[in-house]
Amino acid sequence: METIIVTGGAGFIGANFVRSALAGARYRVVVLDKLTYAASPLSLRGAEANPRYQFVHGDIADRAALDSLMEAVRPSAVVNFAAETHVDRSIDGPRNFVETNLMGCFELLEAARRFWSGLGRAARERFRFLQVSTDEVYGSLGESGSFNEESQYSPNSPYAASKAAADHFVRAYHATYGLPTLITNCSNNYGPLQFPEKLIPLTIFNAMAGRALPIYGDGRNVRDWLFVTDHCEALTAVLERGQPARKYNIGGRAERTNLEVVGEVCARLDALLPAAHNPALKAAGCERYSELIRFVPDRPGHDRRYAIDCSRIEGELEWRARVDFGEGIGRTVRWYLDNPEWCDSVRGGGYAGERLGLAAADQTT
Ligand code: NAD
Repeated sequence: METIIVTGGAGFIGANFVRSALAGARYRVVVLDKLTYAASPLSLRGAEANPRYQFVHGDIADRAALDSLMEAVRPSAVVNFAAETHVDRSIDGPRNFVETNLMGCFELLEAARRFWSGLGRAARERFRFLQVSTDEVYGSLGESGSFNEESQYSPNSPYAASKAAADHFVRAYHATYGLPTLITNCSNNYGPLQFPEKLIPLTIFNAMAGRALPIYGDGRNVRDWLFVTDHCEALTAVLERGQPARKYNIGGRAERTNLEVVGEVCARLDALLPAAHNPALKAAGCERYSELIRFVPDRPGHDRRYAIDCSRIEGELEWRARVDFGEGIGRTVRWYLDNPEWCDSVRGGGYAGERLGLAAADQTT
């Protein structure tokens, strides 16, 4: 049985990954998570009963805690999801992003290196450090083209810059020390368990409550959307068959403008929870959810378009995105409607859907 440490395993993608890892028989999973506002303990409900699961409350920037965890559980891999992830919050307060995404990743690399150095040769060769990164490190595209693994890094937000810096450290730890590291750069994820500050769950939460659906700028910014379970399958493929020191781009080949995404969510809600069954929508004076759409000032430094060329992972590791966008949105909207307890658990965390990331001049951290 192989033991993997999954940092940030109580967050959106991490929890989906933990659930899928426990559904198979290969891994013992140790989650290390600080339980920030973005985590919900309910996201891992059910895992506690599994003897192959352990939860550790802690910070990836805590060197002593990392050293004792490594020695205690003796992992064959570390998968690093732990991060501050919301671009708007990185505009309002970049410090947390540097502390977790960069310094935390650095401490995790150091702890992994110390532990890995003490292993025998075969175990050293098998060991993996997988850094879960984002396509946002590449910056913004024009009307055409896509990012491949050789694309230059050109991050535009403090979030993207902190992830880019961490990627460089991960790469350097292989080049300098030989630590078997891998980096994945994935496009926008959506699906169950995502905190409602991100576009799709925010739209669902606001729509259900009959509140305005904010669209930044002209709504024509394009993202390449990937259903979260497809991302988890890609990460498993990279962990098990990826070549150390190699980068893998992961994408859904599903480019959509923000306006199209919100329109698709509204259409699903019209079908699943029509105005006749939602007094909040009626009270807002609307018959259809799309009537709640409001254009608001754009995000500072808002990247116009991301698109991912994922032919390397498709060709070398035989991974393919399996859930198309329409199906994925339908599954996502239904999941939020069917899981009010989870929705209440994240609503209690002090975030009520308010606008973030306008970079007020008097705001510093
Ligand atoms: P999330 O915000 O939902 O969850 C982050 C998790 O990390 C939370 O459980 C939080 O408690 C934990 N965490 C934060 N700081 C920590 C610390 N110092 N120590 C330990 N745990 C800490 O994030 P997500 O959307 O699931 O993203 C996971 C990873 O995937 C991130 O590294 C992100 O950059 C990357 N990624 C996300 C997307 C996306 O669309 N969401 C796309 C590509 C890559």
